[in-house]
Amino acid sequence: MNLDQEDTQKNDPADSEAQMSISRRAALSRAGVFGASLMAARPAAMAEGSDGSRPTTRKLKIIVAGGHPGDPEYGCGGTIARFTDLGHEVVLLYLNEGDWMENSAETRVAEAKAACEILKTRPLYAGQRNGHAIVDETHYEAFGKLVLAEKPDAVFTQWPVDSHRDHRAISMLAFDAWRQSKRAFALYYYEVSNGEDTLQFSPTSYVNFETTESRKRAACFAHASQTPDRYYALQDQVAKFRGLESGCARAEAFVRMAQNPFDVLSVFAKA
Ligand SMILES: [Zn+2]
Repeated sequence: MNLDQEDTQKNDPADSEAQMSISRRAALSRAGVFGASLMAARPAAMAEGSDGSRPTTRKLKIIVAGGHPGDPEYGCGGTIARFTDLGHEVVLLYLNEGDWMENSAETRVAEAKAACEILKTRPLYAGQRNGHAIVDETHYEAFGKLVLAEKPDAVFTQWPVDSHRDHRAISMLAFDAWRQSKRAFALYYYEVSNGEDTLQFSPTSYVNFETTESRKRAACFAHASQTPDRYYALQDQVAKFRGLESGCARAEAFVRMAQNPFDVLSVFAKA
């Protein structure tokens, strides 16, 4: 989207009004997450997504979407393990099965299954072909249905400025699902293999994953056919840099949409 288009969208009063009412509805529909009394006290703040309250009163459902098996694990493995340690449910939604050249779908799916077991999550596939992502009306609708059927509280997806077409595709599809949901869930972006894949990423949120680093590493190395030595070393440099930025040894970083109805990362806030 260029600047002109963005300005046009911002200045469309009909769109603004519709979004305001959608945000309010989305916030109200989450009363079960935050508790009715809190919602009654702070509905406006919730609608703006600026409320720092902790959605800990029930189990959350989180989807982490990625272009290929391995992307969610490399970008968010530490955070995923922290969510599942707290009893929240996480689904890894892969755009395709990752089969390519000598790497069969059977091998890649088995690796993803092992990675998911390490992180106490489960795999889900969007049925596209590796390297041949399609983003059109039919696929927007199908992907939206798949996501909404899971009734997620939050979706994490890849950043749209990325060298890989499949990564850009999953980002577009996830953003559209968020729009289809009328922003009923929170949307976040994550980074992978910065410089090679993710570009121009400027985080808004950080999760310290020192306590779950070994499981993230094991989940990434479960993708044994994908030269994990090389890619984990690169991702670990990113994690250490994000740790420097946020004051810990290793962190995963995210871009949180300002319009989110709430912030699921607040479950990690220190008491
Ligand atoms: Zn990928």
